[in-house]
Amino acid sequence: MIEHIVLVHGGAGDITDSAKIPILLAGVKAAALEGYRKLQETGCVLDAVEYAVRNLEDNENFNAGKGSVINTDGEVEMDASIQCGKTLDCGAVTIVKDVKNCITLARKVMENTEHTILGAEGARRFAIDQGLDLMEPGALVTERRIEDLKRILAKRQEPKCEMGTVGSVAINSKGNLAAATSTGGREGKMPGRCSDTSQIGSGTFADDAIGCVSTTGHGESIMKVCLAYNILENHKAGMSIQDATKKGVNDMTAKVGNTAGAIAISHNGEVGVGFSSNRMSWAYIKGNEVHFGVDQDQHDIETITI
Ligand code: ASP
Repeated sequence: MIEHIVLVHGGAGDITDSAKIPILLAGVKAAALEGYRKLQETGCVLDAVEYAVRNLEDNENFNAGKGSVINTDGEVEMDASIQCGKTLDCGAVTIVKDVKNCITLARKVMENTEHTILGAEGARRFAIDQGLDLMEPGALVTERRIEDLKRILAKRQEPKCEMGTVGSVAINSKGNLAAATSTGGREGKMPGRCSDTSQIGSGTFADDAIGCVSTTGHGESIMKVCLAYNILENHKAGMSIQDATKKGVNDMTAKVGNTAGAIAISHNGEVGVGFSSNRMSWAYIKGNEVHFGVDQDQHDIETITI
């Protein structure tokens, strides 16, 4: 018998400020719990990953929804994607402005259009059409991100690799899988840049026959190796999902440089967490336990009341 699991990540990167760690861990634990409660209520893994990701999109400490990084024009442009492992149906959005919860928009693309990816103004118009919450132009931009951009442009330095994309994967007792990912992208990116997070196979992948994955990290590198699918290829070849996840991110870094992280659940309910960055916040709920970590090889467990 497979147990319900909801696993989330809050982004891979060089999280150098240790004071942020308790905040990130509290955020990923709360999101995993929200997704898990939804799964207990409806039994639907798509609901679980959507609600877990929405929770993180609404949390300013993460780079998705409110709190997203800004492009060189000072604007938030977001990407998101979601996939159902049972049907392989998927939906994604890219370069979206003003939409409060892009993961819900991606799900609407999957369920209510004949397309897979909608971008830019067309995606925004579709959000209005579907009755989604829209913010006033500029309302998703936070002071902190304006300061970050000024610092990057003034010093003409590489953006610090502290990203904070969010994602979730889930399994229910029937062995159904789903994956979802949402991001504001990379700090100081060009306007119109499209991230791995909108690409099925790179940022998100779910297939009930193999497993489900959500990735984070340097998008241009993730897309070169189709990281989410690559991890599942490793698992198909016989590796445990944990080894497959670690190998996927480490191989990416070795082959094309830069760093990434990923979370995964296999078709039989095993969990994989791996990152080649120095840190990635993650948490999952299984039974009455929350498992979590942020540093390499950290895996802490607490008992909780659902
Ligand atoms: N993958 C995201 C991007 O490149 C960023 C991240 O995961 O932190 O847009």
